[in-house]
Parts: sequence; C-alpha cells; structure tokens
Amino acid sequence: MKNLQLVDLKTQYEKIESEVNAAVLNVLKSTAFINGPEVKSFQAEFENYLDVKHVIPVANGTDALQIALMALGLKPGDEVISPSFTYIATAEVIGLLNLTPIFVDVDKETFCMNPDSLKAAITSKTKAIVPVHLYGHCAPMDEIMEIANEHGIAVIEDTAQGIGSNYTGKDGVSKKAGTIGTVGTTSFFPSKNLGCYGDGGAIMTNDDDLAAMIRMVSNHGQSKRYYHDVIGVNSRLDSIQAAILRIKLKHLDTYLYERNIAANFYNNEFSERPELTVPKTASYSDHGFHQYTLILNGVDRDELMKHLDKKGIPSNIYYPLPVHEQKSFAEIFEDRVSLENTDYLKMKVISLPMHTELDEEQLEFITSSVIEFLDQ
Ligand SMILES: *Cc1c(COP(=O)(O)O)cnc(C)c1O
Repeated sequence: MKNLQLVDLKTQYEKIESEVNAAVLNVLKSTAFINGPEVKSFQAEFENYLDVKHVIPVANGTDALQIALMALGLKPGDEVISPSFTYIATAEVIGLLNLTPIFVDVDKETFCMNPDSLKAAITSKTKAIVPVHLYGHCAPMDEIMEIANEHGIAVIEDTAQGIGSNYTGKDGVSKKAGTIGTVGTTSFFPSKNLGCYGDGGAIMTNDDDLAAMIRMVSNHGQSKRYYHDVIGVNSRLDSIQAAILRIKLKHLDTYLYERNIAANFYNNEFSERPELTVPKTASYSDHGFHQYTLILNGVDRDELMKHLDKKGIPSNIYYPLPVHEQKSFAEIFEDRVSLENTDYLKMKVISLPMHTELDEEQLEFITSSVIEFLDQ
C-alpha cells in the first residue's frame, strides 16, 4: 500500500508532470515572470469556469481577503462578522485593518455560518459579513444575502476551501461558491482544492467598480503608472503559478469528483456507527470535501488519533482553537452572541486523509482502523 498522507500532492503531480514541466519551462524561457500572458489567460479561464465577470489574481488567499476589505473602503471601528470556527486568515485581516471582528456561531451539521446567529450579531456598525465555505461545503447564501441586503451590508465569501462547489439558490439557479456575495476570495495554496506549487490567490466579483478598486488596491493603489490614488499593497500571482493553475483548472471538476468518491467510501463505512457523525451535505450545496471531517460522539479523540498514528494514518483537527479563543484576538474581539456549536465542535471534530489520490486499499485500511478502535 502507498504511504498514507493527509494530502498526496506528489502522485497528483506525477499524473500531469510532463504538461506542467513544459508549461513552467515556457515561462522561464519567456522571462515574463510578472503579469505575463499566462496570468491573463488564467484569469480569463477562471472567469469562464466560475461564470463571473472579474477575477483579480493576487499573491495568496489572505491577501485576497485583506484587499477585498480595503477595496470596500471599511474604516477602523466598522464591524465585520465572521465565524470563529475557521482558519485564522479569515479573521486576521479584520484585526490587521483595525476593524472590529464580531464572531458568530456555525451550524452543527454543515460547519458553516448560522443565519440566526448572524442576525443576532448585526448592529448599525456592521459593514461586512465574511461567510466561509468551510471544508468545501457552501454557507447558506440565500439567508446570508437576505440579511445583508436588508441592512445594506457587503458580503465577502471566503472560498479558500470551497472553490468549484456549487450553490443552488431558492430560485433554482446554481452558482459557483465565491460568485454570490458582493465579492469572493480564494487561495491556491498547494493543498487547496485548486492548488498551485507555491502561493497564490484570487478575488472574484461581478461589480465593475469594485473590480477596478480591487485592481488598484492590489497594485499599490495605482490608477495609472506612478499615480497612487489610494494606499494599496503589492499582491500578484506570478506567471509560473498561473501556468500551473491553467493546467490544474482543467482537472478541477475531476479532482472534486475524486474527493467525493473518497468521501462516499468513508460515509458508507461510518454512517451506521452511532459514535461517528458523518459530514452532511445540505440540499442547496454540493461538497468539495476540502476536508473529510467527522464529529465524534463519546469517543476519546486523542486516543483515536494515537491509534491511527501508530498505523501510519495521519489525522488532524481543523480547528482545535477557534479564533475567539486565540491569544492574538483576546483584546480586540467583542463577545456578542453564543458560540456554543463552535465550542462543541472544537472538541469533537477529526479530519481524515482527503485528497484526489486515495485508492480503495488505502480507504479500506483507514476505515477498518477507525472501526477497530471503536470496537476495542
Ligand atoms: C487557506 C485559507 C485561507 C488563506 O489562504 P492563504 O493562501 O494560505 O493565505 C483563508 N481562509 C481559509 C478558510 C483558508 O482555508
């Protein structure tokens, strides 16, 4: 059996190796390392895939979030609502820009932002909402957009884990995650569902004026060469990464399908066990399975992880400490609504290996090892 890894990037690379190597060499020979034709082509192809008017490639997913907040013109003291049960980057940029982070709870079934909790947290100071499509499952965008529109609040979809997932609205129309709110952001970190071979990110929007502002902010606040209208940053996707992403984008739907095959295997083996709650997929969403995450019911998580580790099976906890409990946030966040699901999930979740290269032998070994632990 192949060695088990949380994410197997090597085997995935080997399948596209000659194509990737040729594309990278082409960039080297062209010396168009920054803003070259590969970046422009990737941008156009990604716009087409997502069915969105504007994609603005940037250096990473954290920059994408920061630039989106800057382009919306938020001011210190403005409140920005996000879940606490997320990767630190979602909230970090809120703190970095001296905005006030307000954390709301997630749903226990989907791990995504809970609309009732969101409603309870809104004040006249709320200027933006940042739902996260956690683990590849879409947040309930109809409810979130309804609340946002009622109050005139911007919505920034953090799509770093959910790229390629489809959300079907109450009107029956399906859209790609990240293209429903005011603006969407994503990351091309290597382990993400669409990952490059270094750092990368992108911002998506259908709003022409906002897109222009995002382009300006991400390029030193420059309106024309050497004229800087606003304070900006320097955040670019490089041409080598764009060339790799062009190849991987063609495989994204297959990659998502392969993740679903692995998740179905896990679900079939686990769904009858009362000790395990398998991940749910709501009717309005499909699932990108960036992570395959179980909720443990009365199972000693540390002991299970030790048991798996002894057998060479890696597992992980996303996330052991929610943002509102992080030391860095102790002084700046305001405790407004109950985060009981967040506090529950942080103690109960465990994520198993999930990637595009899991074969049946590996899946069989992982699932039987988990069940062996439950039965002992
Ligand atoms: C990975 C991730 C980010 C940040 O992406 P980087 O490219 O690593 O900066 C932001 N939000 C979420 C939810 C993520 O998983």
